[in-house]
Amino acid sequence: MKTMVIGGAGFIGSNLCTELIREGHGVVCIDNFSLGKAENVSHLICEEQFELIEADATDEGALDGLFSKYHPEYIFHLAANSDIRESADNPEIEYRNTYTTTLRILSAMKKFDIKKIFFASTSAVYGDRRDEVLDENTSNLSPISYYGASKLGSEALISAFSYMNDMSALIFRFPNVVGGHLTHGVIFDFMKRLEEDPVRLIILGDGNQTKPYIHEADLIGAIMMLMDAPKGVSLYNVGTHGATKVTSIADIVCEEMGLKDVKYEYTGGESGWKGDVPRFRYCMDKIHATGWRARFSSDEAVRAAVRDILKERESHG
Ligand code: NAD
Repeated sequence: MKTMVIGGAGFIGSNLCTELIREGHGVVCIDNFSLGKAENVSHLICEEQFELIEADATDEGALDGLFSKYHPEYIFHLAANSDIRESADNPEIEYRNTYTTTLRILSAMKKFDIKKIFFASTSAVYGDRRDEVLDENTSNLSPISYYGASKLGSEALISAFSYMNDMSALIFRFPNVVGGHLTHGVIFDFMKRLEEDPVRLIILGDGNQTKPYIHEADLIGAIMMLMDAPKGVSLYNVGTHGATKVTSIADIVCEEMGLKDVKYEYTGGESGWKGDVPRFRYCMDKIHATGWRARFSSDEAVRAAVRDILKERESHG
């Protein structure tokens, strides 16, 4: 199948491109490189079925040109601002890269009669509902970050476009994803900080924030398994079992980097930053009913991700 991965040079997108190529699909990878890097997909450049193009998914003319040239059958929409701390000070970033990208992509799909889309949504659409077990039918969604709001708005656009144009949309709401090619997030930050200062680690919040972390290989396995969705919107919570405390992540990172006696300094407060949801729980009965299950628990996913990143760094010298 001819596929287009928009946001494909980012963390999840680049791993998805690798898997799609491995499964024999054609892939046109689109990215504006605001957060992603060409080197994340450099191993695919020699593949005949793979093409990398720098373009901005808010640019209507660019999307028209790309859709008319390549006629993709399936769009994977992963383009977004993933740096939620950055957009806490500037909501325009979310409006542009998270919400407007969705509108432009759906409009181009309508224009070029493309029927299938995967959308990377997030647990942030639920808002701060820490005392509830959240399932896909949870109502009164009240995101507390501009990121969560833009993802929820995107989900609403996908609902309307798929109804109006007979599209099939697969939407996954997932929590933190970890693994090789990470471009942001707590593991990425800790490793970067410890490389700069191996005896002291500043931890945002009080370290008790506790969330599930899913390994990218598990997430991509679920996408590949369910990508052939029926007409309309198929919405799933996708996550893993267990959850990992931020201080435990610091312990795992230090252990895997071979660092001892690192002094942790907490900035304090129950959230890492305003808009961060310190803990939540997911109900995954719906996705489990399909037969899919994550292989890595949250703690295992964190450890595996640190090892993936260390291996990557070693191979890049
Ligand atoms: P990422 O930042 O590594 O990837 C996003 C990619 O989109 C980047 O390569 C970036 O350069 C690109 N991009 C941004 N704006 C663009 C634009 N206007 N035009 C073209 N490209 C653009 O982030 P990721 O972790 O790989 O996330 C992928 C998707 O999954 C995102 O939509 C994100 O919101 C969603 N998601 C991620 C997580 C997570 O923990 N990583 C959790 C839930 C949802």
